[in-house]
Amino acid sequence: EIRVRALHKSFGADEVLRGIDLEVGRGEVVCVIGPSGSGKSTLLRCVNLLEEPTRGQVFVGDAELTDPDVDIDAVRRRIGMVFQQFNLFPHLTVAENLTLPQRRVLRRDKAEAARVAARNLARVGLSEKADAYPAALSGGQQQRVAIARALAMGPEVMLFDEPTSALDPELVGDVLAVMRMLADEGMTMMVVTHEMTFAREVADRVVFMDGGVIVEDGTPDQVIGAPRHARTRHFLSRLL
Ligand code: ATP
Ligand code: MG
Repeated sequence: EIRVRALHKSFGADEVLRGIDLEVGRGEVVCVIGPSGSGKSTLLRCVNLLEEPTRGQVFVGDAELTDPDVDIDAVRRRIGMVFQQFNLFPHLTVAENLTLPQRRVLRRDKAEAARVAARNLARVGLSEKADAYPAALSGGQQQRVAIARALAMGPEVMLFDEPTSALDPELVGDVLAVMRMLADEGMTMMVVTHEMTFAREVADRVVFMDGGVIVEDGTPDQVIGAPRHARTRHFLSRLL
């Protein structure tokens, strides 16, 4: 579903991605781990063209995002993204946060947008918060709203960039539970995370990045359980 080929990204003279090759099959969950500055966020941002790759190709489904003639807005609609910061619209209610992008971007009518919003709030267990404002929610609830908002757009793939890193420890579990549900439903997911338990239990594959390259790519048992490279072992030993 997602294919990245020989992807390079530089910021000025700083080469941040140095040739990334990666595939995420339909329904697969791939967790990306690695030290700060290794290029994890830049990789995710290249997959939905929030950053323009310097070289290489990115495909989502049958569309090549790096084709200069691609309708980038159309492709982006197929990709949901959730960030560390929830980025909800503070002046809109939870329900309005879900309906506004559907109406603006997908041109859904009011009733349809409201129906899809209600269905997705229920999926993340927050139906009773529909009329609340984001400031009245906990961080974990706000992040679940952000996930529901992305889901309401009907994405084919979901990208998560450290979705639980800004949360108090006691709120992490509820967000991970929602992500686990999505994985069980067969959503194609790329997840940058430091949650090794989640990676071990939910990921089909784990990718370890360092210095802008993929050092290891394998099953959780291989990469986390029996890392082959010293850099991976060093990284994991500092986490556990
Ligand atoms: P972290 O775990 O801290 O989130 P990361 O693996 O996500 O790290 P990136 O955010 O992808 O790392 O950053 C990789 C490198 O690219 C860093 O050295 C960073 O300073 C640099 N970088 C990222 N975005 C930009 C930008 N817009 N302009 C210049 N340099 C950037
Ligand atoms: Mg990052």
